Amino acid sequence: MTASADQRSFRLTSFIWSALLRFFDGSKDRLIAARAQLPDRIDWARSLPFVLMHLACLAAFLTGVSPVAIVVALIAYLVRMFAITGFYHRYFSHRTFKTSRVGQFVFGLLGASAVQRGPVWWAAHHRHHHANSDRESDVHSPSQHGFWRSHMGWFLTIKGFAPDFQLVRDLMKFPELRWLDRFDIFVPVFLGVGMFLLGVILHNVAPQLGTTGWQMLVWGFVISTVFCWHATYTINSLSHVFGGQRYRTGDTSRNNWLLAILTLGEGWHNNHHYYPNSARQGFYWWEYDVTYYVLKLLSWCGIIWDLKAIPVAVRENPSRRLRARG
Ligand SMILES: [Zn+2]
Ligand SMILES: [Zn+2]
Repeated sequence: MTASADQRSFRLTSFIWSALLRFFDGSKDRLIAARAQLPDRIDWARSLPFVLMHLACLAAFLTGVSPVAIVVALIAYLVRMFAITGFYHRYFSHRTFKTSRVGQFVFGLLGASAVQRGPVWWAAHHRHHHANSDRESDVHSPSQHGFWRSHMGWFLTIKGFAPDFQLVRDLMKFPELRWLDRFDIFVPVFLGVGMFLLGVILHNVAPQLGTTGWQMLVWGFVISTVFCWHATYTINSLSHVFGGQRYRTGDTSRNNWLLAILTLGEGWHNNHHYYPNSARQGFYWWEYDVTYYVLKLLSWCGIIWDLKAIPVAVRENPSRRLRARG
């Protein structure tokens, strides 16, 4: 029997895709094979952009500030914090809801704008954290490796640049996600240039707002990104140190109301370690979880569906609770 035109075209497309992936992803494949031998020390050359972003915050003294720059910075912080918590964390890492393939790619693009590398890299490290919480192998455990290492040292190491891709085989199936991971610099550059152009346009059409291209780049991109970074990192550092524990999870995860404000709901980290499969991390009405409220909104619009919830019997399980109520 001869193959139909459809089958031939499918095989040809698959062949082109895999050839392209081999070309673009070669370095990543070599990293997987060599990961076990990689050293655990800081890779200063590759960490340079991270250091420079912090130094670039000081440029605010040169560009000055304006109310519109602050508002844009705040919006950029909130949107990207949501993209990290709602998409990189609750979707790519834990699959707590479903979406279309196009929706998944858009979520990946939005997450990549937070400059925390690609969704595959992020999810691989995060799944490793849940599987090894507060053991020696957990790369960002404050009890094992100290506060600063868990806050921001771990992802600057040579080993940190190469996660265990075996943990994310479900995501690696999608060529577009692998592409996004390989070229994780594109979206941030696009956003930075966009912020600069926004400032230039506002400077020309509404000079009374008192902004410029450079000012918008510094506030809307650089400062907003650095704040979003450190707020995200607190979940790996502070939320394993400060706060209460509702559940016996066998690790140091805590519930912390202040971090829940900063991170749009991620501060209920002990809840999350207890039941990571829930799209909602605030288990009670008083545990505000802005990310969940927005996800609920997206589900009403039909953009996402099948949001997973914690069963009441599991939430109230007395053998796992350290407090009987609340
Ligand atoms: Zn944790
Ligand atoms: Zn998690």
